[in-house]
Amino acid sequence: MAVNQLEDQVVSRFLVVGSGIAGLQFALLAAQHGSVRIVTKKSPQESNTNYAQGGIAAVLSPLDDFELHVQDTLAAGDGLCHAEVVRLMVEAAPRLIERLLGYGVQFSRVGAGQDAPFSLGREGGHSRRRILHAKDLTGRELESRLLAACRAHPQITLDENHLGMDLIKGRDLDYDDADADRVVGCWVLDRQRLRPRPYLADTVALATGGCGKVYSYTSNPDIATGDGLAMAFRAGALLANLKFVQFHPTCLYHPKAKSFLISEAVRGEGAILINQRGERFMPRYHTMADLAPRDVVARSIDQEMKTTGDRCVYLDLRHLDRRRVEKRFPHLVQTCASFGIELAGEPVPVVPAAHYMCGGVMTDSFGRTNLAGLYAIGEVACTGVHGANRLASNSLLEAVYFSEAAAEASRADTPYFGDGRSPVPPAALQPRDTNRSREAMVVEHDWDMVRRVMWDYVGIVRSRQRLDIALRRIRDCRRTVEKLYRESALNPDLIELRNIALLGELIVLCARYRKESRGLHFTLDHPAKSQDSPRDTLIMHGKVLNGECPWEPATE
Ligand SMILES: Cc1cc2nc3c(=O)[nH]c(=O)nc-3n(C[C@H](O)[C@H](O)[C@H](O)COP(=O)(O)OP(=O)(O)OC[C@H]3O[C@@H](n4cnc5c(N)ncnc54)[C@H](O)[C@@H]3O)c2cc1C
Repeated sequence: MAVNQLEDQVVSRFLVVGSGIAGLQFALLAAQHGSVRIVTKKSPQESNTNYAQGGIAAVLSPLDDFELHVQDTLAAGDGLCHAEVVRLMVEAAPRLIERLLGYGVQFSRVGAGQDAPFSLGREGGHSRRRILHAKDLTGRELESRLLAACRAHPQITLDENHLGMDLIKGRDLDYDDADADRVVGCWVLDRQRLRPRPYLADTVALATGGCGKVYSYTSNPDIATGDGLAMAFRAGALLANLKFVQFHPTCLYHPKAKSFLISEAVRGEGAILINQRGERFMPRYHTMADLAPRDVVARSIDQEMKTTGDRCVYLDLRHLDRRRVEKRFPHLVQTCASFGIELAGEPVPVVPAAHYMCGGVMTDSFGRTNLAGLYAIGEVACTGVHGANRLASNSLLEAVYFSEAAAEASRADTPYFGDGRSPVPPAALQPRDTNRSREAMVVEHDWDMVRRVMWDYVGIVRSRQRLDIALRRIRDCRRTVEKLYRESALNPDLIELRNIALLGELIVLCARYRKESRGLHFTLDHPAKSQDSPRDTLIMHGKVLNGECPWEPATE
């Protein structure tokens, strides 16, 4: 039986791939200027955004100032942040928070009433209290309010269970040389009917989030398979800094707890890390002890576990006021209790896990990529804000800042599509007969293989030898998967496997490139920082670029 019949094309002014904070806010702002189509691969709220606990950073306290937030961000970024972009974002934060309040977002306050001051949390690397939060369910609050606003908007249509597969370019519509490379849409798979369909638009905003699922252990939900990064790369976009993967120091270590993170805000409120012997170990590794930047804490835990041979370390809150813990972290208390652990009453077993991709599709300060028509916003992008390491709670802020900037910039994009042409589907999307059951086992095996290789060889501590092994294994796997993809019926697991295998290879290529340790990238072969001035590691068309960037980001 032939499957994967093509569906008719869908045309809109803006196409948004992804429904996390970046995609939803972009959609709301772009909808003031034309029709918006959002495609999202599972249920709309399923996103990294939905699981964010700690909060969103903004300078709102009289004890804080913009310069301190900028300096904290630059210090975490370890020499690779683009300072001017950081400053733009930090200074816009109070205004962006106002807009979120306008969507109905309720942040926790000290006292009752809408005029009471915000309750500002503190997290690792921040020199002041500046984290707005909605108890410990900040992401859920943001996601649900933005989603409700999108659903109520007459210009926005949301297609759930629709998986973006590959970008469509001008040349697929037979446009001439000047426009051949312009992005004009995306091939999308309806996951229920398993049918691909071209979605065409003047502006395409990739808001597909990160790629935690490239690793065996991650705080990310299942959607985080780096699809947007892979699609952009295949289309010829410039990617940057993929080796800077942030490992969150404290995911719950429990056989039944899949991806459950214990927020850094818990340490911000005074929790400490101890080893199995009950010894507090962070002061041995860093002067900021338990509030050292995330990479330092994750590496210290890794080192502590390797030295002691223990399988986890513990977060200790027993010295904190129990009622205060229960009030501040109700969701954590409840979830830990569901695993039989009393958050405030006993040491909580934790391990590091892949959490955030600091690199991504390279953009200018308006979210524009090197490909006309294509914007990247949120975690999928590399905007220059995070450098070699992200400061906690800066990513939600980055997503709202750049989704606004991109919506604003894309207004000026020349209306392009609309002459009725249809793209010719690439070979892999042509209807064909296949036997799906034959591939299921291979797909499952290779999913595990890629993730395990990445965890074992491309994790918190790296070496050239481990990276070489990883490259050989993942490259072999990626080639097999590409063949399978061309020859098999389309199915979401295979599409995602194709993406994580590609991403794995690109992360390894970037990690092998620079001969130094910086930020989140630590290699045993070169444990010190290079004295040369640091540069972004750029990759395009399968090669790490040695030297100048082939793209001059526009500044206005
Ligand atoms: C557990 C956890 C806690 C966190 N806590 C914080 C915090 O306290 N503060 C902070 O600043 N950051 C935090 N982060 C990071 C932050 O949540 C994310 O960086 C941010 O939410 C990313 O938003 P986004 O819109 O870019 O992507 P996401 O929110 O991940 O949304 C991506 C969307 O794209 C969709 N998608 C993906 N691929 C496709 C495809 N091929 N086709 C169609 N749709 C697709 C997904 O289904 C999803 O809807 C946390 C992350 C995690 C996982």
